[in-house]
Amino acid sequence: IRILGIEGTAWAASAAVYDSATDDVFIESDAYQPDSGGIHPREAAEHMHDAIPRVVETALEHARETYDEPADEAPVDAVAFSRGPGLGPCLRIVGTAARALSQALEVPLVGVNHMVAHLEIGRHTADFDSPVCLNASGANAHLLAYRNGRYRVLGETMDTGVGNAIDKFTRHVGWSHPGGPKVEAAAEDGEYVDLPYVVKGMDFSFSGIMSAAKQRYDDDVPVEDICFSLQENIFGMLTEVAERALSLTGSDELVLGGGVGQNERLREMLAEMCAQRGAEFHAPEPRFLRDNAGMIAVLGAKMYDAGDTLAIEESRVDPNYRPDQVPVTWRSDEPE
Ligand code: ATP
Repeated sequence: IRILGIEGTAWAASAAVYDSATDDVFIESDAYQPDSGGIHPREAAEHMHDAIPRVVETALEHARETYDEPADEAPVDAVAFSRGPGLGPCLRIVGTAARALSQALEVPLVGVNHMVAHLEIGRHTADFDSPVCLNASGANAHLLAYRNGRYRVLGETMDTGVGNAIDKFTRHVGWSHPGGPKVEAAAEDGEYVDLPYVVKGMDFSFSGIMSAAKQRYDDDVPVEDICFSLQENIFGMLTEVAERALSLTGSDELVLGGGVGQNERLREMLAEMCAQRGAEFHAPEPRFLRDNAGMIAVLGAKMYDAGDTLAIEESRVDPNYRPDQVPVTWRSDEPE
């Protein structure tokens, strides 16, 4: 099976070709970089409009050259696209592009949930059976595990996504978007200062710690110390709930998903927690963690193989598409 994947939920205009026979994933991405502030939905949509045709063309060229299909045949078996969750104006452009390509190439359309794709790429690259997934991305933060045909949300943020929370602090400090890597670099020279730590059962909250961090900055606490402490507390919260999710499900496999998963300190904390309880931990390589069409193409291939394709008239996008709304058609394994 060979699938063209298209991703465009927020900042990454990305196209990929996944070939299941070789397990090769080719990804071409073009990132939107705001001039100032955070992601502006209209500007992000303009970026999609501009960049999607380019990245798709590159991906299709790669498929034609690599797999040597006859010129009159489509170089892929289906077109998979991110249906949501994400920014409506961006999703609509990607949806339109995917529908047009599916018709032009005369291949089926596959609608992929972006958060389930973050999970499935980890399951795929680790070759895990039934992992718990910590999705630590820009606009989201939650723990997912499979049960009875769905990925259930075991715990999640009660307010903002984890990356967005970090980015709000760095905007306050005047650092350019995205803030996560800058906080990671600054944290290396920091020492711990007290900041809120909020876990309620399986859920967590970032708004209190963000306000407190901004306040500390205004009170002239060294920014390195705030960055260090932000990482310790925020990642500590995520690690605590990930551990509880492993315990609750009885799973001994944890995968990480999302752009914040590129952070070394978060990976270190999760790896240590897993080692202590004898669980396996897998963090996909960075190109599969941040938003990318590779994960859309890989899950798209599994869905296509299961016959889970979309009629054009049912293919509208959904900015609030939750992972637990997705019937998991591509796996038959029922743990327990
Ligand atoms: P979603 O998948 O929820 O739609 P998103 O589209 O915003 O999220 P991702 O690519 O998953 O995008 O994540 C982007 C976020 O990752 C940004 O908030 C960025 O600050 C954060 N990030 C990137 N690198 C690091 C890092 N090294 N440490 C912490 N955060 C990071």
